[in-house]
Amino acid sequence: MFGPLADKVDKSNLHLPFIYSLKAKRSNIFNQTIRGLALISYRIILYLSILKLQSMPYQKFEEYNIEVTDDIKQKYHSIIDSIGEDVNRQGLQKTPERASKAIQYLTQGYDLDAERILKSALFDEDYSEMVIVKDIELYSLCEHHILPFFGKAHIAYIPDGKIVGLSKIPRVVDIFARRLQVQERLTDQIVNAINNVLKPQGVAVVIEASHMCMMMRGVQKQNSVTTTSAFRGAFKKMETRNEFLKLISSKLS
Ligand SMILES: [Zn+2]
Repeated sequence: MFGPLADKVDKSNLHLPFIYSLKAKRSNIFNQTIRGLALISYRIILYLSILKLQSMPYQKFEEYNIEVTDDIKQKYHSIIDSIGEDVNRQGLQKTPERASKAIQYLTQGYDLDAERILKSALFDEDYSEMVIVKDIELYSLCEHHILPFFGKAHIAYIPDGKIVGLSKIPRVVDIFARRLQVQERLTDQIVNAINNVLKPQGVAVVIEASHMCMMMRGVQKQNSVTTTSAFRGAFKKMETRNEFLKLISSKLS
């Protein structure tokens, strides 16, 4: 769930135990009415949240263009055939369609605008200490082999009059990760998006990731982790950069 939706639903949930705690003191009919009203309002909030989600500038990718899905499906069909498999056996019959939807889901970032999403949750604020969001889960596809690489991103910025809703930072990671990528470019794109929109005193991004193309094929280095970093503004200063690295270091390999 996205930030604003999660907030709404969570708040409505918080009221339910309070309402239930009144149960012992009131009559059954009254209780049932209260409970009914609580459930109805919960459903209304959930429904409104879904409507709000649908009208947001970004949406979870759940609809697939029929023509594109069919085109990719045919191609997966011939890939499966070309590797010597029987495309008609039971387990594989629906695989081309599933794979077609999966690859579209995993590359949905092309249709999303990271800077627009950051701009949608900007707030004026005097806070000027380091803000760190660490251990952001990251799943991407290497553009050389179309195999996954996955790991964690640690992001920090020092505001200069503007802060951003914290849930938007992992969203930005997802938007750039859900494309065919190299880890180096992914790191740069995240740092640039935050830098361009927030115009902070500084931004830092560190990504550590394991690449399936290294682990499953080629050199087969099972335990290697690739670390990339990008620093802008104040983080170019050794002291600030070291403070950030120290704060995330317990999680660094
Ligand atoms: Zn690769």
